[in-house]
Amino acid sequence: MELREPRSRVKDFQPGMTNSDRLLSHAVLTENRSTADAVRPGPVLLLGAPGVGKGTQGEILAKIWGVPKISTGDILRANVSNGTPLGVQAAQMMKSGGLVPDDLVTDMVAERLRDRDTEAGFILDGFPRTVCQAEWLDKYLNAHRKGEALAIVSMCMDHDQILQRVVHRTVCPVCKTVYNTELMPPKRAGHCDLDDAELIQRNDDSAVIFKTRLEVFRRETEPLFEFYRSHFLFIEVDAGKTPSSVTRDISTSLSRLRNQMEQ
Ligand code: AMP
Repeated sequence: MELREPRSRVKDFQPGMTNSDRLLSHAVLTENRSTADAVRPGPVLLLGAPGVGKGTQGEILAKIWGVPKISTGDILRANVSNGTPLGVQAAQMMKSGGLVPDDLVTDMVAERLRDRDTEAGFILDGFPRTVCQAEWLDKYLNAHRKGEALAIVSMCMDHDQILQRVVHRTVCPVCKTVYNTELMPPKRAGHCDLDDAELIQRNDDSAVIFKTRLEVFRRETEPLFEFYRSHFLFIEVDAGKTPSSVTRDISTSLSRLRNQMEQ
């Protein structure tokens, strides 16, 4: 099974930095570092509809906090590209916008969480997506990570706005850098700033498939907001703001709540 996410896209600032790098630039990182320094992230999960910006925030926060972002979607896509048995089982469900069976995903997450780089904390992106997965995660954390309260970051945005973002999303098949033809275009249309590869659209980002993904989200994942709402470390952020503001909101709230917990 392939458990490695594609390499991080977050880079330190360099002269001549490309457009997409700018989003995750030194400015974003330093702007947030003062609050982030105070944060001991522990286990964090980003909860929100597909396309809301969990991946982008996960990348930035992972860099600031020095913990791994674990994206079940990225791990599954890596398995599909490598043709592993898991990838073969998951491919059709992913293509249609449906969910991969819970037990396949929870086994995958359990194996990834055994890695030592998760000891100081980790950021879950795209997991859990069902109540069954959330219950599994609770049990797993109680059994293996005693005393570490899970922080839930609920990222909200109007679904029409998300659809507009997603249909314009393109990705580099080589380095996985994400662009948006409207909001964050590459320097040369259709080509990656970093390696010039031809950009593609994720095959589940078409308007039709994306609508299915949103329906699946409403049916399977939205109940998780209720599941977690009474949780002490529940943080709600407006994901429609600029990425750096969203990062700041998450960092500040998490820092405040973790400090309150200690008192
Ligand atoms: P994402 O990149 O998070 O949007 O995930 C892409 C696709 O991978 C989803 O549409 C699902 O088919 C599958 N997937 C990712 N995470 C999960 C999960 N936690 N449970 C079930 N399926 C998942």
